[in-house]
Amino acid sequence: MEWRSPSPAGRPPVFSGPLSRAPFVSRADSFAESVIREMTRLALEHDAINLAQGFPDFPCPPELKDAACEAIQADINQYAITWGAKNLREELARKVGEYNGIDVDPETEITITCGSTESMLAAMLALVVPGDEVVVPEPFYENYGPDAVLSGAVPHYVSFRHDLSIDEEAWKTAFSAKTRAVILNTPSNPTGKVFSKEELSFIADLCIDHDTIAITDEIYEHILYDGKKHVSIGSLPGMEDRTVTIGSFSKTYSVTGWRVGYALADGALTERIRKIHDFLTVGAPAPLQQACVAALRLPAEYYRDLAADYDRKRRLLYRGLQKAGLSCDLPEGAYYLFCDISSFGMADTVFARHLVETVGVAAVPGSSFYHAGGEDRLRFTFSKSDETLDEACRRLENLS
Ligand code: GLN
Repeated sequence: MEWRSPSPAGRPPVFSGPLSRAPFVSRADSFAESVIREMTRLALEHDAINLAQGFPDFPCPPELKDAACEAIQADINQYAITWGAKNLREELARKVGEYNGIDVDPETEITITCGSTESMLAAMLALVVPGDEVVVPEPFYENYGPDAVLSGAVPHYVSFRHDLSIDEEAWKTAFSAKTRAVILNTPSNPTGKVFSKEELSFIADLCIDHDTIAITDEIYEHILYDGKKHVSIGSLPGMEDRTVTIGSFSKTYSVTGWRVGYALADGALTERIRKIHDFLTVGAPAPLQQACVAALRLPAEYYRDLAADYDRKRRLLYRGLQKAGLSCDLPEGAYYLFCDISSFGMADTVFARHLVETVGVAAVPGSSFYHAGGEDRLRFTFSKSDETLDEACRRLENLS
């Protein structure tokens, strides 16, 4: 099994024609393929339970399906306005005002994108120029590495402490006059860390002092446990015009395949993000944007039930992993368990292969969340039905 893309030098060019001219160097050669999606492929190949890729295997709310079908039947099948349908932007402005405490003008400060993945890349391409430094807390969601490469950013990684608190001295050292942006993710993937208001205020002060932009991926904002509260750095004083807040419908409403997300930022930043977005994708799917309006109108109980359901799933998988000898902490948010596998004496990729092939459960090797290290970790998602998780736990009993 190949875990990392081979170096261009290690593989003969497969092209004929002009691309076969040596040496052929591509931007794509400088980062690895997605390990998460590679694990999904392997799970399918081995008929394993896919606890690798974070997507629900249960249905989305019926209100969303009905609204999507209605929109298609009503012939909302052509391009929406490139930066998003007006009624979706208006509904979203209301929601982020109430939930995130961010005041946005739907006409000039919202861009609806193809998932948060596009928002992050569009923000990086729009706001970072080659050579700029970008601070990335580590471990980090695997996309941020390639996003940095594609935008020409020089990543500067800052590790969390063992208990996931932030090391203020390390953060101060990471910021310099060259720091253009910091990439935040709260609740975090893969650790589930939820940044506190104090931590975000400290980071906000660094951003203000160094004239830096915070690009914050808040896709798991409604998946929180044990009374944790979500804080958006964009709501803190002085951050109004230096934050890109990224969100998505994928995880909150269990529609990861719809590819509808958004970036909120002040007008000057949004103007640039919209230009990149326009040429990357033209726009997010028009009928699904209408269904997302219905999503934003779901009652408050929907969010309470979502968090309660994930809390139950979190505990269910946690117990199964503990029983199998895989130790981890209960996360504060998001839907992953990040396990310590050091007692098994196997590197993460070897262990992941063993799990998928002989136990029938797929997980993500920890090293895909680090620029270096993480071989003593595996990530499991619990964004699955209770039945799927029960079966995974049963299979994990065979782990030896
Ligand atoms: N965000 C999800 C995860 O971390 C899925 C993303 C992906 O397909 N890479 O598993």
